[in-house]
Amino acid sequence: MADAVAIVGGGPAGMALALALHRHGIAAEIFDARQRGAAKHDKRILALSFGARKILERIGAWQGIPATPIETIHISQHGRLGRTRMRAAEEGVAALGYVLTASDLAAVLDQAVTAAGIPYREQQKVGASDTANYPLTAWAEGAVDNPDAVVRDYGQHAVMCTVGASQPHRHVAWERFTPAGPVALLPHGNHAGNDYAVVLTCAAEHSPAVAALDDNSFLDLLRTRFGTRLGFTGAGPRVVYPLGLRYREQIVADRQVWIGNAAQTLHPVAGQGFNLALRDIWELARTLSGPVYAGDPGDPALLARYAAARRLDRRAVIGFTDTLARLFSNDIAPLAHARGAGLLALDLLPPLRSFVARRMMFGARAW
Ligand SMILES: Cc1cc2nc3c(=O)[nH]c(=O)nc-3n(C[C@H](O)[C@H](O)[C@H](O)COP(=O)(O)OP(=O)(O)OC[C@H]3O[C@@H](n4cnc5c(N)ncnc54)[C@H](O)[C@@H]3O)c2cc1C
Repeated sequence: MADAVAIVGGGPAGMALALALHRHGIAAEIFDARQRGAAKHDKRILALSFGARKILERIGAWQGIPATPIETIHISQHGRLGRTRMRAAEEGVAALGYVLTASDLAAVLDQAVTAAGIPYREQQKVGASDTANYPLTAWAEGAVDNPDAVVRDYGQHAVMCTVGASQPHRHVAWERFTPAGPVALLPHGNHAGNDYAVVLTCAAEHSPAVAALDDNSFLDLLRTRFGTRLGFTGAGPRVVYPLGLRYREQIVADRQVWIGNAAQTLHPVAGQGFNLALRDIWELARTLSGPVYAGDPGDPALLARYAAARRLDRRAVIGFTDTLARLFSNDIAPLAHARGAGLLALDLLPPLRSFVARRMMFGARAW
């Protein structure tokens, strides 16, 4: 039997797990169906939490990532009352989160994997029985492929692009809920910069037309959805991602564990997908290498312990994201008033706001 953990999938989750295991003294090998470096072409722009940064630092994959700090998050709903602001200074942290490209993240993870001497076997598509001689297989293949998965189709797509604004972003992120779906604007680039990454959610049937709009018409649509708080000057190419929720109830089985999008694929409304993945990864590496570790990373007792340790945070993030995606994407009056009241309560009650902010930064086990 091999003694390393087989990691199937060399995307961000697979590489981060290999590094976390390495940091805890456990050997791993990565297998990926694609050519090495393919993840460096990922066009997504991610918002990572302060907690995610801490984990990336610990696994040696933060230094050198061009990341824009988010110092304020402004949350509101279109045409209705209620808004709130979360500020890094109120939470006693340097930033509530960071905006970075998935391609830069993949490049830094890849470098760290090379530096740690972790084998990366490219162009190797792995099937269920191919890793049977490994003590543990970590499935990080980026999609929930399981007949028992819980699936929710929101009938929505995300249209992503960058836009220029007429004033500096000053590290403010905007999340605006509209009847047609949420719109997020994430500050992108240095302090004096005025670029934003836009995640505009729309009905699945409208996304081809939205993506095909010329720049001016797209900016008009953005103005209609976002309002006039910011002036927009130009838009980059649009990329469309289908949105839904898919997750496995069981994230461990006999000598197997599922992580990243293979465990749960979330709606990006709250930007939680990779943040949750990193917390899972860190806990898995910690549990496997803990005091009861006897040299077998696939020990069923350790895997059960890991699954139990992650239950609360996982459920909370899946539930929170699902609720946001469903509740904030319609214009039913009582719900709109409830949302307004909720946002107002957050604004008026600093401890409640702090509670939500800390959950978003560090997960449900923040304290
Ligand atoms: C529009 C959008 C915006 C998002 N924004 C955020 C955000 O702001 N913040 C956040 O935290 N998260 C965000 N996410 C989620 C984040 O992008 C994902 O959590 C993350 O990319 C998942 O990485 P992964 O490694 O699990 O999967 P992937 O990146 O899909 O990697 C899977 C890898 O497995 C390989 N593979 C597949 N099958 C096999 C096989 N059989 N054998 C070998 N290799 C295989 C593939 O080639 C691939 O390299 C967003 C997602 C979307 C769609």
